[in-house]
Amino acid sequence: MTDCIFCKLAAGDIPTSVVYEDEQVFAFKDNEPKAPVHILMIPRKHFASLAEATAEDEALLGHIQLVAQKLAVEFGIDQSGYRVLTNCGPDSGQGVFHIHYHLLGGENLGDICGF
Ligand code: AMP
Ligand code: ZN
Repeated sequence: MTDCIFCKLAAGDIPTSVVYEDEQVFAFKDNEPKAPVHILMIPRKHFASLAEATAEDEALLGHIQLVAQKLAVEFGIDQSGYRVLTNCGPDSGQGVFHIHYHLLGGENLGDICGF
């Protein structure tokens, strides 16, 4: 989608701090980090949120979780612990409507859930 900021990042049209990419998934540092490690992982395929996913996306969404696991090791938070989450829809506070998963860690996250 041409007016989607995350599509533009994944396409390389806007520079960002890339931490992982493959044919299906693109991951980069959140530009307003809420924890010492705050990475966003997106499918290159554009859809708005988890609510729009279909059975066709099952492997893709599973793949993102394993990318999160790999990045947690790479960023040294696999032993201390981390959180992976996706916001979906108005009550979640979702602000960017290209599905994305947050990987958060590097400190005790407590009950942070609002962003
Ligand atoms: P959400 O509230 O789940 O939609 O989260 C969107 C996240 O995207 C926020 O944590 C923002 O800080 C982050 N974000 C928005 N634009 C950019 C960008 N251009 N580069 C990196 N992170 C971004
Ligand atoms: Zn997009």
